[in-house]
Amino acid sequence: MRMNCNIIKDLLPSYIDDICSEDTRKVVEEHLAQCEKCRLSLKRMQQQTDYIQQMPEEAKKAISPFKKINKKRRIQVFVAIVFTFIITIISMLIVQEVSAVNQIFFPKKSAIVVVDSMEVWEKIHFNDNDTGTKTKDYLIYNSIFWNKKIVNTAGSPSDITLRVKDEDGNIVVDELRVRPGTSVKVDSLKNNKKYYFEIKAQEGRFFINAV
Ligand SMILES: [Zn+2]
Repeated sequence: MRMNCNIIKDLLPSYIDDICSEDTRKVVEEHLAQCEKCRLSLKRMQQQTDYIQQMPEEAKKAISPFKKINKKRRIQVFVAIVFTFIITIISMLIVQEVSAVNQIFFPKKSAIVVVDSMEVWEKIHFNDNDTGTKTKDYLIYNSIFWNKKIVNTAGSPSDITLRVKDEDGNIVVDELRVRPGTSVKVDSLKNNKKYYFEIKAQEGRFFINAV
């Protein structure tokens, strides 16, 4: 039986889905065997069906990288928030306590020593903090940020000779000569111990820094 191509086209979807009757199936197959146009139609319809069935799988593959990006993005946002928080706290501390923060990360104490006689060891009284007027006759290296350097500043009139005593009065650094505008390392001094610094020099006002 020779069927009209349009009728076959109408039947093809149920043929592809395998929901037509045996008789219809036979009719369709007989027609397809003779009609190239309808075979092409069938092929096209099958490809479309395949494509639609593959869609979810393809879509999943397409979406999964975005999921990964989203996770990465969430972590980045979280890290950014934490950083912002920390920076805000540090900024507040710096604004409130500039000298305190400076003292922690860039510890420095300064002293002015007036020398009246070349023969006498003058004790160095370091400022207790950067702005205050209190002084202490000892120095404690109370953090790892100390460079443990003694600077004879360029403002000093001449060389100094430096020595350092510990709490028991023992000389632990003996007679180091320091020219104005230079410094000496006192690496041998330990952290969290009291040290007493003394200088000998010609008469004058000496500006000494401990860093
Ligand atoms: Zn046909």
